[in-house]
Amino acid sequence: VERNPAEYEFHQAVREFTESVIPFLMNHEKYSDGHILERMTEPDRIVIFRVCWENDEGHICCNRAWRVQFNNSIGPYKGGLRFHPNVSQGVLKFLGFEQVYKNALTGLPMGGAKGGSNFDPKGKSDREVMRFCQSLMTELSRHIGEDTDIPAGDIGVGAREISYLFGQYKRLNNRFVGTLTGKGLSFGGSLIRAEATGYGVVYFTQHVLHQHGQSFSDKTAVISGSGNVALFCAEKLIHLGVKVVTLSDSSGFIHDPDGIDLEKLHWLRELKFNKRGRISEYAQQFSTAKYYPDQRPWVIPGDMAFPCATQNELDLNDAKALVSNHILVVAEGANMPCTLEAVRFFEEKEVLFAPAKAANAGGVAVSGLEQSQNSQRFAWSREEVDERLQQIMAHIHKQCVEYGKGEGDTINYVNGANIGGFVKVAEAMLAYGIA
Ligand code: NDP
Repeated sequence: VERNPAEYEFHQAVREFTESVIPFLMNHEKYSDGHILERMTEPDRIVIFRVCWENDEGHICCNRAWRVQFNNSIGPYKGGLRFHPNVSQGVLKFLGFEQVYKNALTGLPMGGAKGGSNFDPKGKSDREVMRFCQSLMTELSRHIGEDTDIPAGDIGVGAREISYLFGQYKRLNNRFVGTLTGKGLSFGGSLIRAEATGYGVVYFTQHVLHQHGQSFSDKTAVISGSGNVALFCAEKLIHLGVKVVTLSDSSGFIHDPDGIDLEKLHWLRELKFNKRGRISEYAQQFSTAKYYPDQRPWVIPGDMAFPCATQNELDLNDAKALVSNHILVVAEGANMPCTLEAVRFFEEKEVLFAPAKAANAGGVAVSGLEQSQNSQRFAWSREEVDERLQQIMAHIHKQCVEYGKGEGDTINYVNGANIGGFVKVAEAMLAYGIA
């Protein structure tokens, strides 16, 4: 805390991780040598830079951007870029730290990084977003590369932004290589990449339920967010027969007791991705739904909760509301959406809890597969990528079970994910000696 003042989200992420890993170290001397945990909490480097761009009125605007290259022990740095006004060094360090262990769990050779800017894409024209992205990439391009660091999207960075960023990278380097993932299908993108995080959360939850003698049959889901992760999580749940009753954005949530079907979801996807509309418009379009401004969906009864918006969007009070409605499983689609107090409460009440590091790793996994396809200069079919995604989510679940076994048949997925990721990265760091 003294070394990283005011980086609250980073402190939170490290605390959650070390609460799992320190007890493990007590019984595994090999990993407690060499200050490995201390070394792991210090990023390899952070690049901070100014991004100047011109708005449509001809005014010069100035933002700050970062790339936190956290750890490349098991592969080149890999992690998304976030554009949001609340982006700070502490937020990106938390995200970069989480990314290291998430990437390790996938079994693919990827280190961990995160980056972004306090730029707010909301209300900006396409041209403004383009000028911002081109300016940002002009500096960022010196620090990344297909064997060094491969950024992707995150909050506020979708297909449009990745296209502008990749176009500028290609122009500056005069090379067509897979230095960004999440690209369009006509220029090196992978099928299923857009769907991967949301689909992966659902595949992972299916394993969690199966492990506990349960299934999706007759289940209802409450979801937050209405971005990339939330909408594809909803889509896969609907495919698998689950009734999805809520979605949200930063202004409020909608509750549709009849369930959001594929037709309604398709309308919503158009609204959010192409028209950049607000979730409130859903309730104007579909009379079965009600809009609740400035509220979160956790008061709505359901069997499964999928927080898919942002960090710390589900606190202790929300956890209590979910438990009082007999929630069975909570799976994190977003990164660290549940506060530490909420997670502890779920553990105390024996709610099945799937942490982000494991549950939402499907996105970066398919990004890894996009890199493989780019290196091969080949594109795999939708079925092949989906099959590999399912295998990776099963592999992550297996590691969680191996490292998260508690008393009797209990599995602590938080411990499982943290320790499973830690062991892989620690092995490599120890092999390298003091570095
Ligand atoms: P999007 O930008 O596509 O969507 C984000 C959603 O969250 C929007 O509905 C947004 O609402 C809402 N949101 C953002 N900030 C807040 C806030 N402060 N309070 C309430 N709601 C908010 O992002 P993604 O779907 O890509 O990412 C969502 C989460 O999933 C993030 O935590 C991200 O790190 C994580 N994640 C994403 C991956 C991916 O592949 N995209 C991979 C792994 C994790 P509004 O439109 O009003 O801002």
